[in-house]
Amino acid sequence: MDISRLIVKPNEKLLYTKNLTPGITYYKEKTVEINGEEYRVWSPYRSKLAAAILNGFDASELSDVKTVLYLGAATGTTVSHISDLLPNGRIYAVEVAPRVMLEFVNRVIRYRDNIVPLYFDARKPYYYQDIVETVDLVYCDVAQPDETEIAAYNCDLFLREGGKLLLAVKSRSIDVTKEPEEIYKDSADYLRKRGYEVRQVIDLEPYEKDHAMIYAIKVKKG
Ligand code: SAM
Repeated sequence: MDISRLIVKPNEKLLYTKNLTPGITYYKEKTVEINGEEYRVWSPYRSKLAAAILNGFDASELSDVKTVLYLGAATGTTVSHISDLLPNGRIYAVEVAPRVMLEFVNRVIRYRDNIVPLYFDARKPYYYQDIVETVDLVYCDVAQPDETEIAAYNCDLFLREGGKLLLAVKSRSIDVTKEPEEIYKDSADYLRKRGYEVRQVIDLEPYEKDHAMIYAIKVKKG
């Protein structure tokens, strides 16, 4: 990712990405002009990746990322900002809900050529195995009880060794009776057992209640 296209303003609790499509916005986000260039405001209240960065995830960790498999694209809020940061890269964006996918296509896809929309179930990655290449980053935000397993399954198939995983864990989707910290620990332990090195677990409060972002690396074999 071209991190020079990202501006982080911790005091304002905001981030900005340089708009790949000046004059076009996607979800009524505001724009600002910085040094004669248009930037889109990236709110941590609208995007868990923005929240993770404001809460201590170092975005420069993603500077070697050129290809992304994004699970749970929804209407493309976060995907659009990642797209801003990947002018020469590609995002494979998976979304299972038909109406949501239609809105994603109408809102975002038709203006950007670095996103490949995939209307598939991320639980069945073999259906898109012939489309998706080996990627540098898997980003998973499906808000499902088995989200950790979904992420690991996709990483096993598509993430290169040494590649990165960002997994948004929604503790209330997994088990409402357990403390969120316990759920985050269970997810991290599961990933370790599956061969991933967990580097960081970032609580997303106050932007997202009962959510964390897990940052892990696929360990190289041998
Ligand atoms: N990542 C989005 C963002 O930041 O803009 C928000 C994602 S929203 C929390 C979760 C999305 O995952 C929903 O749009 C839902 O339809 C999708 N989803 C849930 N289960 C899925 C699955 N098995 N495969 C693909 N998408 C799924």
